[in-house]
Amino acid sequence: MNDDQLLRYSRQIMLPELDYAGQQALLQARVLIVGVGGLGSPVAMYLAAAGIGQLVLADDDVVDLTNLQRQIVHSEQTVNQLKVDSAAATIAQLNHDINVECLPQRLADQSMEEQVEAADVVVDCSDNLATRTALNQVCWEKKTPLVMGAAIRFEGQLSVFDSRNPASPCYACLHHQTNSLDVTCSANGVMSPMVGVIGTMQALETVKLLAGLGQPAVGKLMMFDGLSAQWHSFALPKLDDCKVCAKG
Ligand SMILES: [Zn+2]
Repeated sequence: MNDDQLLRYSRQIMLPELDYAGQQALLQARVLIVGVGGLGSPVAMYLAAAGIGQLVLADDDVVDLTNLQRQIVHSEQTVNQLKVDSAAATIAQLNHDINVECLPQRLADQSMEEQVEAADVVVDCSDNLATRTALNQVCWEKKTPLVMGAAIRFEGQLSVFDSRNPASPCYACLHHQTNSLDVTCSANGVMSPMVGVIGTMQALETVKLLAGLGQPAVGKLMMFDGLSAQWHSFALPKLDDCKVCAKG
């Protein structure tokens, strides 16, 4: 780390749980963020601010006026631009040290496999079941930890799936047991700070995985009820017959 970096990250480096070695690990890390919308905005901005060296942004969408209510990485100036370009511009202003790679595409098949394999952590900020399901499958195969988040209306949920840990469940286990949140913000609405709460938690879990600190939310489902301001944590068991994560 150079002097500027030591100063910039000093409030993190002084944390004994992170320390110099942890910050160094963050600077050398590569994180894939799938979806640069409501959840992807705080994820990208906090990870850039925290000094994650390489961020890969995947999204095929362009910024729309209806996004600005919650997708805070974008601005009025970037309406109609690609979301990945809009987010990259914001990140460059926040921390020029961060290497940002833009993928203006909906990741699938080979491109998804290559990007997941190259990443240290994948953050699922997508808004559709097809992408979530495929990402879960590929992350499990490539042994890349997956930080899943979702927010709708005043409800949010978060979990971490880590196939390096044989006891970890996966997104398919969760989907099978809850069958929920396959609904979109465009059809159901979402209160703006809800994506901030969940996205910020996803960023924190990502930092923990990269620096090896604390206990990531593996094997549990965290649910946030914005109306009652309450977090609920449920044990999320691995399904014995899960088609993705159970050993046959
Ligand atoms: Zn599973």
